[in-house]
Amino acid sequence: MAHRGHTNTNTPQRRPRPARRDEDRIAGEAGTAVMRALTLHQPWASAITYAGKDIENRGWTTAYRGPVMIHAGQGRDRTAMAALSDDLPHKDLHGAVIGVALLTGVHQCDGTCSPRWADPGRWHWEMSAPQPLRQPVHPVSGRQRLWIPSTALCAKVRHQLPANIFERWRSS
Ligand SMILES: [Zn+2]
Repeated sequence: MAHRGHTNTNTPQRRPRPARRDEDRIAGEAGTAVMRALTLHQPWASAITYAGKDIENRGWTTAYRGPVMIHAGQGRDRTAMAALSDDLPHKDLHGAVIGVALLTGVHQCDGTCSPRWADPGRWHWEMSAPQPLRQPVHPVSGRQRLWIPSTALCAKVRHQLPANIFERWRSS
């Protein structure tokens, strides 16, 4: 970082290293696509994956756009649990990745973007194209922020996704 200002003297075509890692978009080939993961309280993880919850409310924003593993953490929102249908799949499952959704944008508004799911005053993460996993991957520990899943976890999730899903996401 401290040397960043000097990198363009002899290697003008070389990009600063942090920029590449933080590029945060779906990479070229299907086999190399970058994913992130987000830990949510239940039943919100299930609601994004199975119930059409298209807004994730967060107190912070991100520049990342692309596929996000939906990880059901240990937390439970009891009020929401009572309000959502009893047959919402995996809503009692914790410590597992249950699906992948595409994060296409982040904005703030008064909640009119998705009256059922959006909380006014928070960042609205626009989630689309959820892909439930036939077999949730567990145990997986929750982490803060938008985290980078291990290669092993990526492999377990990816082989449950449709073969052309990254192409579809790239063009959406
Ligand atoms: Zn909104």
